[in-house]
Amino acid sequence: MIETERLYYNDVYKKEFTAVVLECREEKKGYHILLDRSAFYPEGGGQPSDIGFLDGTEVFEVHEKNGELLHYTRESLEAGTEVTGKIDWERRFDLMQQHSGEHMVSGLIHEAFGYDNVGFHMGSDVITIDFNGMLDDSQIGEIERKVNAKIWQDAQVEISYPSPERLKEIGYRSKKELTGAVRIVTFPGTDICACCGTHVTHTGEIGMVKLLSAVKFHDGVRMEMIAGRRVLEYLNRVNEQNRQISVRLSAKPTQTAAAVSRLWEENFRLKGLTSRMEEEIFANEASRWKGKGDVLLFREGLESDSVRRLTDAVTQSCGGLCAVFSKNQDGSYKYAMGQINGNLVSLTKEMNQTLQGRGGGKPYFVQGSVWADENAIRAFFKEIMEQKR
Ligand SMILES: [Zn+2]
Repeated sequence: MIETERLYYNDVYKKEFTAVVLECREEKKGYHILLDRSAFYPEGGGQPSDIGFLDGTEVFEVHEKNGELLHYTRESLEAGTEVTGKIDWERRFDLMQQHSGEHMVSGLIHEAFGYDNVGFHMGSDVITIDFNGMLDDSQIGEIERKVNAKIWQDAQVEISYPSPERLKEIGYRSKKELTGAVRIVTFPGTDICACCGTHVTHTGEIGMVKLLSAVKFHDGVRMEMIAGRRVLEYLNRVNEQNRQISVRLSAKPTQTAAAVSRLWEENFRLKGLTSRMEEEIFANEASRWKGKGDVLLFREGLESDSVRRLTDAVTQSCGGLCAVFSKNQDGSYKYAMGQINGNLVSLTKEMNQTLQGRGGGKPYFVQGSVWADENAIRAFFKEIMEQKR
């Protein structure tokens, strides 16, 4: 086993270091590089691994296996050479902010409600934490206020390796049974947890925590949170969305929800009006085609439901087959066909084949869409009518 000195434990802010390549193992998809010392943090404890470079060679993942620290690369590095390692610091510091924020939130929830963090995922977008108990909106609001107040106190984060005797006296959170030297991370007055991840050294570096949502999950809740720079990025995104809504609806940025409600009500009223006007038009169409036998209609811009209602109205009066087509924005046509006591199964099948369509329904009424132009649709029905004679 090759041991590597873990530089991130002595100095979590180490972004660059020199090291000697001890071994380069060829693997299925590249190489595993082993160094005498490294600042690269391996994936573990819910925290993704660091990425970066060893000289010009990209390190795309870092894993710890059987006590060895493996740097995954696509190019080989010769054993014995000295290399300069550079970790992607922006990414690492972001992960430290998220991870430290998660400690503080979990610690405060544990203290206030006794719930455990039973699942944790650091996504590239948001952090999710699963708790084994329910939290309502006001409790979440309270935790959010508390955690940010604690962050702004800028307390120093303590790392310690207590003796087994001392360890028994400390009430600390832990995800699993631990053996050997246990690394205890303490956010004073907020959280004590066994963890080997990377954390900020002062809580103020987290900046801010925002709890985005908490939905029921198993017997508790799944919470989404963000910390640090991600809060600013989220605020910028949401602010930009709100600004666009504000401009389009001529509403103040703090009153966009009310403006959307008014728009929604207006839309509801207009839909009702359109529907009543359509009823009148469809009734007129029905009387226009009364007793005319088979009818093929093309009507612009109808919704599927309107196509269905028009077809139904004309079917009731024409005394034959009624087919209505309406063009979609993508150039295809939606259709409905009906015939009192008719059986349109084979006709629909043939049409779907000839006109690249799909759809179906009851024997006397079908609905669907076809990929064909008006001329092709008319030609198909002309042939059908001629066959009938
Ligand atoms: Zn941790």
